[in-house]
Amino acid sequence: MHLGIDLGGTKIEAAILDAAGNFLFRERIATPQGDYPATLCAIQSLVSKAESALGQPVVAVGVGHPGSANPLDGRIRNANSTCLNGQTLQADLQALLQRPVKLANDADCLALSEATDGVARACASVFGVILGTGVGGGWVIHGQLHQGPNGLAGEWGHNPLPISSPEELPGPACYCGKKGCIEAWLSGPALVADYQRQTHDQTITDVPALVNAAAQGNHNAQQTLDRHTQRLARALATLINAVDPAAIVLGGGVSQRPGLINDLYAALPAHVFLPAGTPLQTKILLPAFGDSSGVRGAARLF
Ligand SMILES: [Zn+2]
Repeated sequence: MHLGIDLGGTKIEAAILDAAGNFLFRERIATPQGDYPATLCAIQSLVSKAESALGQPVVAVGVGHPGSANPLDGRIRNANSTCLNGQTLQADLQALLQRPVKLANDADCLALSEATDGVARACASVFGVILGTGVGGGWVIHGQLHQGPNGLAGEWGHNPLPISSPEELPGPACYCGKKGCIEAWLSGPALVADYQRQTHDQTITDVPALVNAAAQGNHNAQQTLDRHTQRLARALATLINAVDPAAIVLGGGVSQRPGLINDLYAALPAHVFLPAGTPLQTKILLPAFGDSSGVRGAARLF
């Protein structure tokens, strides 16, 4: 039995799947806030619970986590759960649990879950995108997660926004220290900030409110969503031109707005390197498993 752990900022979810993708075990607990040793112990308690519930040993544990592990020293970097940063999470968990542990970030888990038995299960190569608080990506080829020698595969969110107009330069500051990153334009907070910059209206403070305002006829809100779609199309076109995935799965809260997929199909051909009129073969999909993708992908890491 392989246990998947989705280590989030507010909850830790654990699951064991059968070969058909059904949950044999599933449990959620609150994440100990800002406490790394307590987080390790919480994961240990979930392993014990799974073994008691199913009466079998857990032979390996896959963990989906924020940020990424540096391949050189194993230390976690760029995690918004900051108590993880600088920690050797894989080595510490293996020492505590006395069994193999694999790590991946949340976008890796989305891509692996959807490529294995989700919406992209028939696709040979799958790029999973998370548009949420940040912008991440994960890359799965023939069912195998590809993380790369720098552990950077999928980190397209910190490329500059392509084909920027003069008004878009140098672009909003990103937490990574650069300006005009894709994440600084396309994340949920970035989308709302774009609206506020254009309108000086501070009453809309999250993506659902912005989408709702557009649906109610707020012209500026609709224009903000349209700009976001066009920018996303430019960013995805560079991915398609570089690696040409069979499918792109769009996860995260910002991907859930109505009409986005159709709008992207309309906007992409202008930026993809295909002769005019050639139909785009790339599948642009929404995830089959929504919020469960993290734990499902983690359970598929072995
Ligand atoms: Zn950045």
